[in-house]
Amino acid sequence: MKSFKRYLITSALPYANGPVHIGHLAGVYIPSDIYTRYLRMKGMDVISVCGSDEHGVPITIKARQEGISPQDVVDKYNAIIKDAFARFGIAFDIYSRTSSKVHYQTASEFFRKLYDAGEFIEKTTEQYYDAEVNQFLADRYITGTCPHCSNENAYGDQCEKCGTSLNATDLINPKSTLSGTKPVLRETKHWFLPLDKYQPFLEKWILEEHKEWKANVYGQCKSWLDQGLQPRAVSRDLDWGVPVPVEGAEGKVLYVWFDAPIGYISATKELTPEWEKYWKDEETRMIHFIGKDNIVFHCIVFPTMLKAEGSYILPENVPANEFLNLEGDKISTSRNWAVWLHEYLDEFPGKQDVLRYTLTANMPETKDNDFTWKDFQARNNNELVAILGNFVNRALVLTQKYYEGKVPAAGALTDFDKETIAELPRLKEAIESNLEVFRFREALKEAMNVARLGNKYLADTEPWKLIKTDPERVATIMNIALEITANLSVLFEPFLPFAAEKIRKMLNIERIEWANAGSINLIAAGHATGSPELLFDKIEDEVIEAQLAKLKATKEANERKNRTVTPQKANVSYEEFSKMDIRTGTVLEAERVPKTQKLLKMTIDTGIDKRTVVSGIAEYFTPEEMVGKQVSMLVNLEPRKIKGIESQGMILMAEDADGKLVLVQPAAKVENGSEIK
Ligand SMILES: [Zn+2]
Repeated sequence: MKSFKRYLITSALPYANGPVHIGHLAGVYIPSDIYTRYLRMKGMDVISVCGSDEHGVPITIKARQEGISPQDVVDKYNAIIKDAFARFGIAFDIYSRTSSKVHYQTASEFFRKLYDAGEFIEKTTEQYYDAEVNQFLADRYITGTCPHCSNENAYGDQCEKCGTSLNATDLINPKSTLSGTKPVLRETKHWFLPLDKYQPFLEKWILEEHKEWKANVYGQCKSWLDQGLQPRAVSRDLDWGVPVPVEGAEGKVLYVWFDAPIGYISATKELTPEWEKYWKDEETRMIHFIGKDNIVFHCIVFPTMLKAEGSYILPENVPANEFLNLEGDKISTSRNWAVWLHEYLDEFPGKQDVLRYTLTANMPETKDNDFTWKDFQARNNNELVAILGNFVNRALVLTQKYYEGKVPAAGALTDFDKETIAELPRLKEAIESNLEVFRFREALKEAMNVARLGNKYLADTEPWKLIKTDPERVATIMNIALEITANLSVLFEPFLPFAAEKIRKMLNIERIEWANAGSINLIAAGHATGSPELLFDKIEDEVIEAQLAKLKATKEANERKNRTVTPQKANVSYEEFSKMDIRTGTVLEAERVPKTQKLLKMTIDTGIDKRTVVSGIAEYFTPEEMVGKQVSMLVNLEPRKIKGIESQGMILMAEDADGKLVLVQPAAKVENGSEIK
């Protein structure tokens, strides 16, 4: 194995057209943070870089939708994302953005170097152009009829109804969403990165030299390589992004996938003047933390760019995660089906670690996984409170009680003491070996086993019973319990940094290096501990129910949005229509039909006569509400028996998409018996 002097950790750049949610956290930022904190505690030279990805068509679309500039969009979301990460304790050394000056320069120079070396292929293609607004149209700016399913609102890159990916030229009756006019095909020149030329290099580098990559990552790379790589456009016609830095490229910018990963380099440059040792020295280990949707860019495209440029190192590993679902449904920004980080932080102040714990325990490392609020509550109450919090609390409270908070000296150790102590280095080693290969769930489980060990130790030794009869023995027990607590402050630091800090405060100790964990020589006898407080508190049912109600409201709002008006029925002749005798009438009496939920029995003055009507509206109207109301009524409907009552007509109702009924009434009061036609 290669030896490394330093680490460069990158985390996928969040796209600045929306806030960050739990799927992003579980997929990318929590694993990256755990790994970075672990390396730092081991005393490694490590930097962690990230920033907002601020270019691309979705930003310009969002800007148009909201009637603001693309710069306003990215300023807004960059601020929300950056602030949420900071409050959540994500340990980036820098959080930059791809609209920074340094990035424009870095991305331009990168392109220019490849351009000058003749690495790009120039190609002229035909693309849709909106002559009214004088602009080439990105695929998302074109809608039309899907050739597969006849959906009239398919996009130029995909039909969202049948899921087929399309070319804009596949659409029937294409339309520009900018002007509504029919776009015309016009020639445009673009530059392409010849991925195919680098296929042999990639096959050797990934398939032969990186068999240790996670199976999901390796498998996806292999499948891309098996299909055969194609040249990929690095520029596009757009007015938002880094301008293509060559002559004759007016109105063209770098394609966002080309400029975004260069953002890692720019961020490092902004962080340190020594950026080159992190990017260009073979003794740096570069790790990209990403979600599975980014595998092709970080394992195939970006390495090809770096290789073509020639002076950069390649990533050593790309531990991509799969996706996290929410309550059994795919997380979606457009459907607002998510737990947003900034909202969580506002609604659960001081509970960053509860979310970190739950998301790590459910991390979608090898397959998609699900977040549920019930599980969140159970993890908090049954694990964080009942195991970790309980042990730490007992150790500190008993020390206060028996020794006024001073760490007692240990006496002779029993075999059980020795067995317990021997577990510490074993568990530490298990945490390490899992972290080294990006198995964060297992690593967290082993850290929790240290707290379990402590709980079992106290439960088996029962110092609260021995204190009267054998105080010397209790001193040893409490010494060991406090040493285990100190170990927890180290071993949990990568996972639960807020709780780890709280434990250090309660123990009144400084941060301990990773290397020293696993032993029982962390605190001196006689050391005064701080005052104990609860590490975690119970989360009550109401809190969880409120979150579930919030999601339910979102689901209902989405369903309402997606409901479509029922199609028009077949035509009828005027004769057929005029057969229906619709009159105004007034409700004189109304009562519920016994033993039914929906039925009201009413007496109605139709102007012609007074008659009985049974109507299924009791869920929307009380009898009291109906009395005195003027209604529209079909008076010549064949009488029908409903629950044994003869109904002589039908009251007209409008029914909305939710099935809610509203009376159809004349806009002003008219005489009963007036004809509606
Ligand atoms: Zn379709």
